[in-house]
Amino acid sequence: LSALPTLRQVYASGLSISPSPRYKCLPKALDLLTIWKGDITELESDAIVNAANKSLLGGGGVDGAIHRAAGDELYEECKSLGGANTGEAKITRAYALPSKHVIHAVGPVYVKGKEDEKAQQLASCYSASFALAVQNQCKSIGFPSISTGIYGYPMADATHIALDMTRKFLEGPEGAMMERVVFVVFSEKDKAVYEDLVSVYFPPE
Ligand code: ADP
Repeated sequence: LSALPTLRQVYASGLSISPSPRYKCLPKALDLLTIWKGDITELESDAIVNAANKSLLGGGGVDGAIHRAAGDELYEECKSLGGANTGEAKITRAYALPSKHVIHAVGPVYVKGKEDEKAQQLASCYSASFALAVQNQCKSIGFPSISTGIYGYPMADATHIALDMTRKFLEGPEGAMMERVVFVVFSEKDKAVYEDLVSVYFPPE
């Protein structure tokens, strides 16, 4: 985790800045945010978030990768959770993963015409995940781009929500305990979306 560049370092190396920031600079965010292209199962963090489904028993995409890498014990613990509703999150241990906890957040399946409802559910995944991180003394957390794979959420819209909810958390009373937030993207294309939008929510000084 300490090897990954922070947003401050990325700005210093010339990342382009949005002409229309939505907020003022939040200096501490520059030192704790990272956009990292990689496999979330390799992240060594207090918590990684899983883009789970309502069963919480594993599935495709990042969910499948996390269950494979964590091992059968994760599945056994997940069986005891009794599932979760869309927008909710539940926490488990991380077993063979290098992280300590997995926060299983159930993202919405994107449906055109229900944008507001879906946006609220996706936002809730982020706030619920941060709340569980705080309750479990997790000072570092890595998020995949929830719902933007099999669940079909448009990447840019989902990224706005991820960044906005992170901003709100970091500004709030519980944000003070967080030391690292990593947005784990799985392709160069997704990385470009995060790098394009990050300065709207986290402008440099
Ligand atoms: P959902 O069902 O919520 O859409 P997916 O797993 O299909 O979940 O996709 C969510 C995001 O996770 C996508 O952007 C996908 O590219 C990404 N992804 C898939 N595998 C991994 C992985 N091992 N590490 C990080 N991100 C991943």
